[in-house]
Amino acid sequence: MIIQKQKAYENIEEMLAPYQKVFVAGCTECATACKTGGEDEVAEMKERLEAAGKTVTGTAIFDSACLRGEVREVSREHQEQIEAADAILTLFCGAGVQTVGNYHEDTPVVPGVDALFVGETIRAGKYTEQCQACGDCLLDVTGGICPLTRCAKALLNGPCGGYTEDGKCEVDPDTDCAWLLIFERLKTRGQLDKIRETQAAKDHSDHHPPQTYKWARPKKKKVKPTA
Ligand code: SF4
Ligand code: SF4
Repeated sequence: MIIQKQKAYENIEEMLAPYQKVFVAGCTECATACKTGGEDEVAEMKERLEAAGKTVTGTAIFDSACLRGEVREVSREHQEQIEAADAILTLFCGAGVQTVGNYHEDTPVVPGVDALFVGETIRAGKYTEQCQACGDCLLDVTGGICPLTRCAKALLNGPCGGYTEDGKCEVDPDTDCAWLLIFERLKTRGQLDKIRETQAAKDHSDHHPPQTYKWARPKKKKVKPTA
């Protein structure tokens, strides 16, 4: 999930200062889970903007704001409301903001949210970073714990030797040393031999922004009609 937080309202207000009429959009996915742009937050933002004297021409919740087809379909349903707006205020991550902006090229799209990281939801309101989308996953040899993300030095071969007596990271005493966690996890799984494998430095030469990915669609099997 893309962990995100809503920008301070004052910041949103500042970005919206040039626009009187605003359309507010949310997303049913990460934005709903992180409470930045689900139904409640969109309704609350509408109320707040109206109280501040803005005209909210309409609201919509995309079922994945980063899906081009979904943005197209929902935008068509709300065409008049969007055309009546001076700007669209989006309450979801930057991937969605850009998807909406790519469809509505003529309308300013204002980002109301800061995307933080790819993470796990421990419970509503508490999240931890888990993955940096490095493009070359090694979780099979690290017991399912990502050293690139969870070790402060992103060591692929650890630990560094700086962890404290109570197993915390020397860089951040509030965080468990990722490599000790990896050790314990591998031990639990009876896979300690894996920690002796030396991991080569990652080759990032082919992993740079902007990235694209396209999978080959599996061919549909022709089903012969039965008599
Ligand atoms: S190694 Fe870590 S950063 Fe790379 S894909 Fe796996 S979990 Fe993500
Ligand atoms: S103490 Fe552990 S988590 Fe911290 S930098 Fe060293 S190996 Fe990484």
